[in-house]
Amino acid sequence: MDPLSLAVGAGLVAIGWLGGRFGSRRRAGSTPKLTARCGCGHDLALHDRETGKCHAELSRRGMHGMREWVGCNCRRYTGPIPLEEVFSPPILPPES
Ligand SMILES: [Zn+2]
Ligand SMILES: [Zn+2]
Repeated sequence: MDPLSLAVGAGLVAIGWLGGRFGSRRRAGSTPKLTARCGCGHDLALHDRETGKCHAELSRRGMHGMREWVGCNCRRYTGPIPLEEVFSPPILPPES
């Protein structure tokens, strides 16, 4: 084996080791804060659990320059589901 390929191999090992080390450290460290936010910009809590409809209200300027409140037209939550939602037992119909 010639010294050059040996050095390249050692370099690759070092890069792999560093990559794995920093990669795993980053993953094990601060857990990414999962914001349960829908595509409409509202929190998961504002969405109906059954229908998925967003209950948030938006203020907008009406026809006469008056501020009016309109319900968010979001019909279904599209954002990430928090872990507690994922791990909670799913509601399944009783087995027949
Ligand atoms: Zn909304
Ligand atoms: Zn929404």
